[in-house]
Amino acid sequence: MAELNAHEAVNLYFDEAAGLIELDDEMADILKSSYREIAVQVPVRLDSGGLLVLRGYRVQHNGARGPYKGGIRYHPSADLNEIRALAALMTWKTSLLEIPFGGAKGGIEVDPLPLSQRELERMTRRFTLAISHVLGMYRDIPAPDVNTNAQTMAWMMDAFSGKEGYTPAIVTGKPLDFGGAPGREAATGRGCVYVLESATKHWSVDLSSMKVAIQGFGNVGSWAALELADRGVKVIAASDMYGGVYHENGLDVHALAALSREGRSVKEAEGVETITNEELLELECDVLIPAALGEVIRADNADRIKAGIVVEAANYPTTPDADKILNDRGVRVIPDVLANGGGVTGSYFEWTQNIQQFTWKESRFNDELEEKLRDAFESVAGFADYHKCSMRAASYAIGIGRVSKAARMRGYI
Ligand code: NAD
Repeated sequence: MAELNAHEAVNLYFDEAAGLIELDDEMADILKSSYREIAVQVPVRLDSGGLLVLRGYRVQHNGARGPYKGGIRYHPSADLNEIRALAALMTWKTSLLEIPFGGAKGGIEVDPLPLSQRELERMTRRFTLAISHVLGMYRDIPAPDVNTNAQTMAWMMDAFSGKEGYTPAIVTGKPLDFGGAPGREAATGRGCVYVLESATKHWSVDLSSMKVAIQGFGNVGSWAALELADRGVKVIAASDMYGGVYHENGLDVHALAALSREGRSVKEAEGVETITNEELLELECDVLIPAALGEVIRADNADRIKAGIVVEAANYPTTPDADKILNDRGVRVIPDVLANGGGVTGSYFEWTQNIQQFTWKESRFNDELEEKLRDAFESVAGFADYHKCSMRAASYAIGIGRVSKAARMRGYI
């Protein structure tokens, strides 16, 4: 039987959690659909003189608790269905973390790899202007996601500011030179490790002796690896879209991060074995961190995952059928809305600094990040233990419960 698409899957997780908090049907109808979905044409003049006509999206899922917030992704799979699912995840995530934002996501259905910097810039500016009427520092604030970065945010901010006046708070994940926050770039990967640390303490297992495999070595994967290495934890495998590398005694993650920063593949590292992305997922290890794309752990490979703990750094890496298999096998899954919540928490810190025109030291940023994630983990673990449910169901239930309260008080229904 075919597995559910991303939006159906997120709604399946929603239904399970809604049952736990006895959410009424009317509120469920409101919360399962998006407030606004826009699809725009993005024509891009290529350096060769040709024209590429692309489709871009911004989905604002729910804004009951604050301005819409969510990343912008450039990828061929970034269609409306995927963006819609990821926007809903953002609503539950911001709520779970008690951040005063709603949930949104955006993207362009494009393979950005063959595009030059000038083409990427033209595409980003066109897209920003096309969605600018629904953006605003108190309305909707984008951030980087797959294949977008601080440079992309700088172009978005400049395109928006050209229209509305200097507005650094319109996007987060900006360069440090204007409005970026020290600590934001590392926040998602670092946050994953803070959550993993809280989890291993809660389960009374020793993190320092664990072996970790990380799929995806971009922003999130590389920072998670560096943070683990700081704690003496061995990262035995890492990969990117070209494939992976393995060393049973641990990889030199600093060398891999340097390759990744230069836009080179981890496969160029020396003194390591190469493996495929599929092999990485199925490696003998203690912790598996999927930190690339969605739907990589599916019904057809979940049985072969050997890690005892899966930390979902990527959004929606595990399909519902696979999630059930992992749960039945006793694999502990730290769900995306909790595990990668450091990203949006860091974005919130950046946004507040922009609004106050005041820059925090990175140490303050990291301390506050750690506290937020530790608190979120404690509430999820407490709920899951009490209701004897998965951490995913607990995370969704807490997130949905808070959003439904705000929506009711604001008179959504
Ligand atoms: P990125 O573009 O910086 O890195 C993505 C990495 O995945 C790269 O190493 C790329 O080579 C690799 N990759 C791409 N396709 C692959 C494939 N088919 N197989 C294996 N690896 C592949 O993106 P990122 O910002 O690190 O985001 C990674 C994940 O984390 C995404 O799911 C994103 O939604 C999620 N996330 C990111 C943030 C953030 O702050 N950047 C926050 C929350 C969640």
